[in-house]
Amino acid sequence: MTSHVDAQIQARIAAATNKRQQQRQQRAELDANRQAGLAARKKAKLRRIYCGTCAKPQRRGTYLRCPLGCGAAVCRKNPHCGNTHLRQCDNRPEAA
Ligand SMILES: [Zn+2]
Ligand SMILES: [Zn+2]
Repeated sequence: MTSHVDAQIQARIAAATNKRQQQRQQRAELDANRQAGLAARKKAKLRRIYCGTCAKPQRRGTYLRCPLGCGAAVCRKNPHCGNTHLRQCDNRPEAA
């Protein structure tokens, strides 16, 4: 036999369970959003281009690719960056 008090206790337990379930779901959603944001951020960061010599961030038109084909970007404005890179480049003829 279920008394008045038992029913109230059951209702309270149900409410607490429900609340915990909701919180768990909310946390999962927030975590998924966070993971998506981190992935996008990392992708954007990897897409950015930096000078291979001075490591300054480059924008379109401010850099050249290594003429020896190693794929490094070097400042277009600063001839020093290109020349220094050429001496260190893994693709330079005297490195082989
Ligand atoms: Zn540079
Ligand atoms: Zn190079």
